[in-house]
Amino acid sequence: MKRLALTIWLVGMAGCAQPRGVVRDLPPPVMNTNYVARPAPAPPPSPVEKSKPEPLRMIGPKTIVIDAGHGGKDPGTQGVSPISEKVFNLLMVQELIQELTRRGANVVPTRTTDVYLTLEARAGVAQRTGADLFISIHADYSTKRSNTGATLYIARNASRASISAADSIAGALRRHGIRYNGTRRRNFRVLTKHPRPAVLIECGYMSNRADARLLNSPDYRARLARAIADGIAAFAGN
Ligand SMILES: [Zn+2]
Repeated sequence: MKRLALTIWLVGMAGCAQPRGVVRDLPPPVMNTNYVARPAPAPPPSPVEKSKPEPLRMIGPKTIVIDAGHGGKDPGTQGVSPISEKVFNLLMVQELIQELTRRGANVVPTRTTDVYLTLEARAGVAQRTGADLFISIHADYSTKRSNTGATLYIARNASRASISAADSIAGALRRHGIRYNGTRRRNFRVLTKHPRPAVLIECGYMSNRADARLLNSPDYRARLARAIADGIAAFAGN
């Protein structure tokens, strides 16, 4: 006998494992059983496009030096954040180390604990390792409390590679919906005391309540790390 395609619920099977509304081939109905035929309910809404996970952009065997700004006797800024900048920088760097490592990069942090390092020592790590990219992580402060968002810095006479890295990271921040204020030129010593491609990232303002909340959120830090890593992957040509 030809099987009937019916959409059914088994009466009294509340909480059963079968998803509702699934059309299944069933044996012909048998008398005195508790089948109840119902019209097929509307299919569930298709998942929103943007919730689809993007494929992981690999970085490959590149040496990426990640510098957590400040540390030890130098707390950096704090603003309205419950944690100081030096602590945020470390947390952010830990997130980045994970994200970059799983994309195949050789990651060298300048510090992984609360220690003080001179700017020259940080630049020295970029030099010694022949870094393909040096990224310095910071959080911002402004007396203008309404200032928000991430800002990138490169040296005034930045190399083409540094400019390209900043452009790639900026593009990824925008794609990930992270507020981005632009790339500025400033001769920070961690950008000028070595010849390797280098970008300093101010991740957001600790002086702004909304930004401080984001910077203190592990979810936001993970999202920011994914965005930065996507930018580095684009810079690395992947
Ligand atoms: Zn800083």
